[in-house]
Amino acid sequence: MTPAPPPASGPLPPLAELLETARVVSVPLTVRFRGVEHREALLFRGPAGWGEFCPFLEYGPAEASRWLACAVEAAHREFPTPRRREVPVNATVPAVEPGRVAAVLDRFPGEVREVKIKVAERGQSLADDVARVRAVRRAAPAAVLKMDANGGWDHEAALRALLALAEFEPAYVEQPVPSIEGLARLREELRRREVPVPIAADESVRKEDDPLRVARAGAADLIVVKAPPLGGVRSALEVIERSGLPAVVSSALETSVGMSAGLALAAALPELPHACGLGTASLLAGDLVAEPLIPSGGVLPVGRTEPAPELLERYEVGGERRDCWLRRLAAAHAELAARVAPGVQAADRRSYPSRSPGARPAGLDRVRRATGPPHAPATGGTP
Ligand SMILES: [Mg+2]
Repeated sequence: MTPAPPPASGPLPPLAELLETARVVSVPLTVRFRGVEHREALLFRGPAGWGEFCPFLEYGPAEASRWLACAVEAAHREFPTPRRREVPVNATVPAVEPGRVAAVLDRFPGEVREVKIKVAERGQSLADDVARVRAVRRAAPAAVLKMDANGGWDHEAALRALLALAEFEPAYVEQPVPSIEGLARLREELRRREVPVPIAADESVRKEDDPLRVARAGAADLIVVKAPPLGGVRSALEVIERSGLPAVVSSALETSVGMSAGLALAAALPELPHACGLGTASLLAGDLVAEPLIPSGGVLPVGRTEPAPELLERYEVGGERRDCWLRRLAAAHAELAARVAPGVQAADRRSYPSRSPGARPAGLDRVRRATGPPHAPATGGTP
């Protein structure tokens, strides 16, 4: 297996430095997601701004280390120069009944130009999917439609579904089947039958050790990319460039602070052929900034967001949840330190254990004391 690309795009600060400003928050969600009702994250501040470390709870240190690289980049480096001042964002329709579609779309203020519709939900049928997509077409006749199956079909079911959904002329369908080989086989079959539905890879880019395998396997027409699982904005830009495929930028359900990285990525891309999946702040029932990144007129402004002190305080958690996140931070940091340049590692080792116990930030001893895995909820789809 090809190893993951180096996740860090700059020097890695010592763990102790990250702990000095670390705040752990728990923000309520409007809907249950991946088995939880709150989105937890650890934020820290650096010279460039705030970084948000928010790997999903079931992710281990190796996967979480890429999310840490993204947070470190956000806090310690300026983002690449933006090529646009606002980013088009799609509306999202979850796997609701057709009768609820109009109400869902009403939550997106202004004209809705592009809609992503969840399909292949467990327990639902293709007829349910078609009815939902038809309801979206009725509610937003001029909108570009695209669907996301989150790998929920097998080859035969995907083929049937895409043949049925082709009449809505989707811009693309995300991850119709789970594996890269499956995507390649399906794409070949669609080509043979002349079904004009482009395939996008999402989970196959994000969960793979080698995010470029999708492109090499000819498994997709475009890729869905998220800054945190690809190790940050610069690292994601490199993956996109090397893939040679068009990219759609999506969120990882960050707060409006962490979302700055996704926006910076979308702003820096040479081409942005589709609206991004960055409108997920509307799934949060609270946020850390005074003006959450809720799209208006189908766009979001590019730029860094800063948490409001009173909101950080409102959603901050202590006790076991804080300990859990400090442990996760330490484990991801150790993982990342082992993968960055040896000189950086050495610097980290020098500065970290040599501090006297009295000079250590309060969180550090708790990191060392605390043991055991974080509580892991059931896995599920992505926004
Ligand atoms: Mg997806």
